[in-house]
Amino acid sequence: MTTTPTKEGSAAVQARRVLVLNSGSSSVKYQLLDMNNRSRLAIGLVERIGEETSRLLHTPLTGGDAETRERTGRIPDHAAALKEAAEELAADGLGLDSPELAAIGHRVVHGGLRFTRPTVITDEVLTEIERLVPVAPLHNPANITGIRTAQALRPDLPQVAVFDTAFHTTMPEHAARYAIDVETADAHRIRRYGFHGTSHAYVSRKAAELLGRTPEEVNVIVLHLGNGASASAVAAGRCVETSMGLTPLEGLVMGTRSGDIDPAVTFHLKRVAGMSTDEIDVLLNKKSGLLGLCGDNDMREIRRRIDDGDERAALAFDIYVHRLKKYIGAYSAVLGRVDAVVFTAGVGENSAPVREAAIAGLEELGLVVDAGLNAVRSGEPRLISPNYARVAVAVVPTDEELEIADQTFALVGRAESAGQEVPVGEVDN
Ligand code: AMP
Repeated sequence: MTTTPTKEGSAAVQARRVLVLNSGSSSVKYQLLDMNNRSRLAIGLVERIGEETSRLLHTPLTGGDAETRERTGRIPDHAAALKEAAEELAADGLGLDSPELAAIGHRVVHGGLRFTRPTVITDEVLTEIERLVPVAPLHNPANITGIRTAQALRPDLPQVAVFDTAFHTTMPEHAARYAIDVETADAHRIRRYGFHGTSHAYVSRKAAELLGRTPEEVNVIVLHLGNGASASAVAAGRCVETSMGLTPLEGLVMGTRSGDIDPAVTFHLKRVAGMSTDEIDVLLNKKSGLLGLCGDNDMREIRRRIDDGDERAALAFDIYVHRLKKYIGAYSAVLGRVDAVVFTAGVGENSAPVREAAIAGLEELGLVVDAGLNAVRSGEPRLISPNYARVAVAVVPTDEELEIADQTFALVGRAESAGQEVPVGEVDN
C-alpha cells in the first residue's frame, strides 16, 4: 500500500481496494471491495470457461442501480476470463491497473497442515499449494491457475492465499486423525482437514457478536448448508471438530455429495458392481446427496415437490435432516456446553423448513425454534429461538468474500506497517 502525508501530517493509506478471486475448475467469481468501508464496488462471475457457451456476468455497485451486464461466447481459459473481467471493471472506472488496488486475495481450497493462516504468495508458497494437488485434485489446480493469471496481470501486487482449511487446523489430533495405520496415513497425508473454513470462521465470530459476547466466551455449532455442506464445533473461537475430512466428501448430506458412507461401499461398487475408481468418484461427488436421492439438488424444488405429495422428495428431505440432527447431537457432546447453533449458506439462510426440522425434538439439548421468528426472511444475522431457550438458535448470512478481503487487507497492512517488504511469504496473523 502506498501512503501519503495528509495536511495534518498523519499517514493516509491510498491503496485500499482488494480484489477477491474464487477460481473454480470452469468458473471465476470475483469481487472488488473498498476497504475504507468494506463495501463492494463490483461483483462478477465468469462461468463455463472453455465451452462455447461461456458467460460473464458483471455488476457494478458504485452507481444507484445495480445493473448486471452480460457477455456471452467462448472464453477459452482463466487468463481470458480474468482479462475480460478486468475490461468490465475498467469500463466502470475500476481498472485493475489502478494504484488504489492494494492486493488480490485468492480463495485456496486446500492448505494442508502448513498453511494455518492467510499467506502472501511467493514462488515457494505456490509450489507448496501445488504439492497439495493430490489431496485436492478438483480444487487446487483451478486455484493455482487463478493465482498465476492474476500474477501475470499485476506482477507488482501482493497476492494473498486464504485457505478453506486454515480455520480447522486448530482441531485436536484426536479429532483430525482417522483410525487407520499411522505410517500409511502420514506417508500420504491422510487426515481430516475440513473445508468452508472461511465461512465457519466468519459465521462463528458473527454469532458471538449477535449474542453480545466475544468469540472467546462462546461455544457454537455452525451448520454451513449450501450446495456443499459442513458442520463445525467451535469452542472459544477455535475449531475443535468439523464434518468434512480429507476431501469435502465426508459429513453431511449435500446437494450432490453423499457425505458419510461406509468406506466398504466403495469396495463393493468396485468388486460387485464393476465400477472404476473414477466412476465411483463421480457417483459419490456428483450424483449422490439430494440429487441422487430424488433427482433434485435444489432445496426450493425439493420443498415444492414435497408440497405436491412427492414421496421421494420427502424421503430425501428426511435423510438430509436426520444427518443434520446426528451432527448437532454429536457436536453438543464434543463441546459439552453449547451457546448457539447457527445456520448459514444457501439452505441454512433461506430454508425455514430445514431449520425447523433439524431442531425439532432437541428440547432436551436446550434447543427450540420459534416458528414466527423462523419464518422471517432477512439478510441480517438473527435469532430464531425464543427468549426462554437455553441455547440460542441463529441464522447468520455468510460472507466468504468479505472475510477473504478482510484477511488479505489485514495481512498486507500489517506487513507494511511492520516495515516489511510485501510479498514476504508467511506472515503472522
Ligand atoms: P450456496 O452453495 O450457499 O450458494 O447454496 C446453494 C443452495 O442453496 C441451492 O442449491 C439451494 O438448495 C439452496 N437455496 C438457495 N436459495 C434457497 C431458498 N430460498 N430456499 C431454500 N433453499 C435455497
